[in-house]
Amino acid sequence: MGYIKLSISTFLLFSLSFAVQAQRSTIITNIQLIDGTGKPASSASVRIQGNKIVAIGALKPNKMDQVVDGNGKVLAPGFIDSHSHHFGDLSKNRAGLSTSSQGITTIVIGQDGNGYPMDSLTKWMNEKPVVSNVASYTGQSSLREVAMGENDLYRNATVLEIEKMKSILASELDKGSFGLSTGLEYEASFYSSHQEVIDLAKVTAAHKGLYTSHIRSEDLHMDEAIDEIIEIGRQTKMPVQVSHIKIANKLNWGKANLILEKLNQARKEGVNITADIYPYTFWNSTLRVLFPGKDFDNLASAEMATRQLFDPNESVLVQFAPNPNYIGKTITAIGLERNEQPAQTLIRLIKLAEDFKKANPNYTGSVEAIAGKAMSEEDVNTFLAWPETIICSDGNAGGHPRGYGAFTRVLGKYVRESNLMPLEKAIFKMTGQSADFFGFKNRGRIAVGNFADLVLLDPATVMDEANLKNSKALSKGIAMVWVNGQLVYQAQKATGNLPGVLIKRK
Ligand SMILES: [Zn+2]
Repeated sequence: MGYIKLSISTFLLFSLSFAVQAQRSTIITNIQLIDGTGKPASSASVRIQGNKIVAIGALKPNKMDQVVDGNGKVLAPGFIDSHSHHFGDLSKNRAGLSTSSQGITTIVIGQDGNGYPMDSLTKWMNEKPVVSNVASYTGQSSLREVAMGENDLYRNATVLEIEKMKSILASELDKGSFGLSTGLEYEASFYSSHQEVIDLAKVTAAHKGLYTSHIRSEDLHMDEAIDEIIEIGRQTKMPVQVSHIKIANKLNWGKANLILEKLNQARKEGVNITADIYPYTFWNSTLRVLFPGKDFDNLASAEMATRQLFDPNESVLVQFAPNPNYIGKTITAIGLERNEQPAQTLIRLIKLAEDFKKANPNYTGSVEAIAGKAMSEEDVNTFLAWPETIICSDGNAGGHPRGYGAFTRVLGKYVRESNLMPLEKAIFKMTGQSADFFGFKNRGRIAVGNFADLVLLDPATVMDEANLKNSKALSKGIAMVWVNGQLVYQAQKATGNLPGVLIKRK
């Protein structure tokens, strides 16, 4: 008898707590609502229940509500990082701070030609979900590796190999990939013909996917590289996006307007071309991209690079497996240590990295990486302000400070300090506009029925704190972040919740 009684009361208790759970909602009050559409801020309260936003307006808390007092701060949709490498961090630190601490709630990965197969991503996110939502492109270089072999990429693909890539790509798109990404400046796909890219892009377009590209050149041959992506947009009629748009050739600094004229002209002719951008005047990449001719031992090319393509006095090695002592030092400083000119040092470092790779064939991870000071502030401003640009971090964790500070830097430095655009507009570029580009129907805007991806931020203090010396410093002014209705970040700490889902293209 006792046993049955206990069972019944346990059952009742369970049902009761289930009912409480089901009704329990959170109401966020005393906020300025910036809803992600670009509309001016307004005062309202937002109620979330489960993973959704269920009410917006002059709401009265009821007994079941957990009340969050926003203290007059801004409540915005969680930020969508349209070009992200954060999965590298989140796959190791699933509740990691790199995304949530800057207000990011969704990352779009598979960038620059490198991606994960959708099956492994699906499995990963089912078994080991991470703090942020994840969406992914399929990378062209990854396709080339499968079709051509990892060590045989410095050439055009054969017709058969292209067919193989097309069929894998089609299947990935069917499994929910958002489209094709290329990293044409990198050697793994630099040698692919224009036709190979077009052929793959056409498969993507037929599946109603998107095309995003780290274009073939961001410096000496940028014009031709822009022509190439415009042509892909023209032939396929699908949306094409220039990844992390920049002018990394000192001789062309100040000419962002000319690039935008060209892009606007293409748009007028019906090409759906846009861009994403991160808010810094330095990039993070391999030393090898500093040799557009891929002549890595040519002193004249190295000298041109130090004059035109990056500033060796301000460019810092952020990864160097052959000699970790060099990490954190500028190319000029390493040159002084080695008694060399910066150009010679550049050649030597690349050679050391190559030798290291040969000697350690099983080494995984990047052997070398540099934060290269290469862009002008004026051009960054011009590109940021272009109505067709959405915001990205291009970041991971560590190395370049964008991994922790890209979004808060836009809001602090470019919105509050330089007044480049209103806060609502900047937030639109991080949320609603990005959601429209990717076709996320129920994210990116604060609206009833949408997923409760939210950030509570203080517009008076929000600012990035990460820099090259302390690349993981947490931003100021991000008070609370929710992903799918669950609080993931508060008071500069992760809550440990892991509500991220894999978003698949429908
Ligand atoms: Zn890139």
